[in-house]
Amino acid sequence: MQGLSVKVSGTVQGVGFRPFVFQLAERYRLTGWVRNTNSLVEIELDGDEAALDGFLRDLRQRAPPLARIEAVEIERRAPSGFSSFEIVASEPDEGWGSIPPDAATCDACLEECFDPTERRYRYPFTNCTHCGPRFTIIESLPYDRPRTTMRCFTMCDDCRREYTDPRDRRFHAQPIACPACGPRVWRHGGPGETGAEDAIEAGLSLLRDGKILAIKGLGGFQLACDATNREAVARLRARKGRYGKPFALMVPDMVWVRRLCEPTELEVDLLSSRERPIVLIRRRPEATVAPDVAPGLDTLGLMLPYTPLHHLLLRSFDGPLVMTSGNLSEEPIAIGNREALARLADIADDFLFHDRDIYARYDDSVVRVLGEVAVPIRRARSFAPDPLALPFTARHDILGCGAQQKNTFCLVKEDRAFLSQHIGDLENLETLEHFQAALATFRRLFKVEPEVIAHDMHPDYLSTRVAQEYPVPGTVRVAVQHHHAHVVSAMVEHGVSDRVIGVAYDGTGYGLDGAIWGGEILIADWKNFQRVAHLRYAPMLGGEAAIRKPYRMAAGYVWSLCRASEAEFASFIGTLPIGERIILRRQFETQFNTPPTSSCGRLFDAAAALLGVRTEAVYEGQPAVELEALADPKADDLYPFDLLRADGRWVIDPAATLRALWCDYRTGRPVRVIAAAFHNTVAAFTVEVCRAVRDKHRLNRVVLSGGCFQNALLTRRLLDRLGAEGFELLTHRHVPPNDGGISLGQAAVAHALTVGD
Ligand SMILES: [Zn+2]
Ligand SMILES: [Zn+2]
Repeated sequence: MQGLSVKVSGTVQGVGFRPFVFQLAERYRLTGWVRNTNSLVEIELDGDEAALDGFLRDLRQRAPPLARIEAVEIERRAPSGFSSFEIVASEPDEGWGSIPPDAATCDACLEECFDPTERRYRYPFTNCTHCGPRFTIIESLPYDRPRTTMRCFTMCDDCRREYTDPRDRRFHAQPIACPACGPRVWRHGGPGETGAEDAIEAGLSLLRDGKILAIKGLGGFQLACDATNREAVARLRARKGRYGKPFALMVPDMVWVRRLCEPTELEVDLLSSRERPIVLIRRRPEATVAPDVAPGLDTLGLMLPYTPLHHLLLRSFDGPLVMTSGNLSEEPIAIGNREALARLADIADDFLFHDRDIYARYDDSVVRVLGEVAVPIRRARSFAPDPLALPFTARHDILGCGAQQKNTFCLVKEDRAFLSQHIGDLENLETLEHFQAALATFRRLFKVEPEVIAHDMHPDYLSTRVAQEYPVPGTVRVAVQHHHAHVVSAMVEHGVSDRVIGVAYDGTGYGLDGAIWGGEILIADWKNFQRVAHLRYAPMLGGEAAIRKPYRMAAGYVWSLCRASEAEFASFIGTLPIGERIILRRQFETQFNTPPTSSCGRLFDAAAALLGVRTEAVYEGQPAVELEALADPKADDLYPFDLLRADGRWVIDPAATLRALWCDYRTGRPVRVIAAAFHNTVAAFTVEVCRAVRDKHRLNRVVLSGGCFQNALLTRRLLDRLGAEGFELLTHRHVPPNDGGISLGQAAVAHALTVGD
């Protein structure tokens, strides 16, 4: 007989860990007890040597699906003479690290939901300790039912029995519910008191008729329509005011995934993971979805059902549904029934409501495989706010306010970073309110009181204003350069603090010289950066308007960088509308509203415009996304470029690249080869600069960050070529490469700059 004291830390509360320990102890005939304390689980055990060993092995290997064990502390001691095994009362729980984010319906619950002999047969809110809502319904911690939006539902006797039985998988499942006592679904336009079955059936027949249905989901309302119905999809686009941007699809199962796309093994795993994100996957050319679902793209964004309500709908519908956030374009997702009625009235033909309130707004997450790694493009439901472990311990609580586009904020407490869910583009009051509400929730849940506030250098960003107007006196403000924050965000993910070569390619970032940066190669550590190379400045004719009209970027390149060979582009300039041509020319000559930019995104815009791929863009990055979709990954053609030296920096001049590209286009080379050659050239000049920086500065680590690295082809090319040159490469894994990751970098820079205070 032996005694054992065990302390388990990590995400071990609210995940069924104590009943798991209880059942494990029974299996090995051990005596003692288990309890929660703060964010630990403490276990005391008596038993014989072999049984204790078996217990410890299974503790790690068979842990419940939502548990994430970080450390197990073991102390051997003399036996205490326990006579049984018990779950004992918890110490008050102050911990935050213990709550997992929302998780997709588990297999056991799904089986129950489709088993006519079960009391939860076809019940849309079936869940257990291994699955169901978490952060979308939690108002405050500790995580207990009265502090969730489930508090207004009183458990029935059957549910209470399950809830209090440590052998049941619903032991202490806070959102536990059943048809007798839990939330219910109804159809807005339906006749008063009909059952959930009628509501779902009515919703399905609307969808089959090509109508648009607003469905209250897990983190907010979703708008659904038949993805194979051309008119339905077009109507949804028109009513939502969302043009061009692809719609995500929800499909019933993996058979449907394979009917529409060609997923890799990793993509299959991602689709069926408990996070159930939208995964961007190469589509089959013959995929039978309406062309308007993802115009101009070679990928589809697919997800599998992740709540019982989704399963019930999709199994019966038996086809792909457009499933997009319930909002007007650019506004936050709607969460309340009345709110949805008001905001979505002009979009949806009908509503499927339910009465489990959503406390926090979460959009669906989006993931793309980039260079064999699954990278979040939009980190929201089921990912946020899972804390990120930091390679430092902050002395002060820090807030990183993020950027303007794809905003997230980041709160740092000690050695943890809580990166918020995707908030959106901070360009309207609704999104700013979403930001403020999410920030208030995070501060309360995780007990963070920021003393240091980091923000972008851009004076006009709303996130900068948030930092400047932060209501707590005495807070220290730190302005962080946009691309420095990008590079540091990836460094932090990898625990790297020594200087690196940081390649930051994106659309827009405020530069130290007032220009718009975005094709930057930095030498950076957490505190400082040095701009060692950048793309040569080109004029952005009409400023921001050039983003929507990429031909303006092309004209700017032609008139400035390609001036000597302007005549070669005469037939391109000739395609510009005459009035526009005169205005642009005047802007170019007077420099009126024409900031210089080194943006790599804008270089992609210019290339796409010259190739006629896209002359007007409805969303930022659209030209680049379509150029990538066209490119033949097998083509290894390359265009020339020049590397100049100016003011102690390398300046990448793509004039020769654009001339060669234009010449190829005019002589009728296939656009797929030209598009590939353009990608290859961007990779090639990047490699050449990295090589030069390595020779001069003895640095071998390269970080790739910025929105351009959502481009799978560019990422693949750079990983291959830099890898072949012996560089050590750091790319994103847990935070988005786009501006959604900026807030983490800002917080880390602020930490480094204030650590001595
Ligand atoms: Zn379950
Ligand atoms: Zn019940």
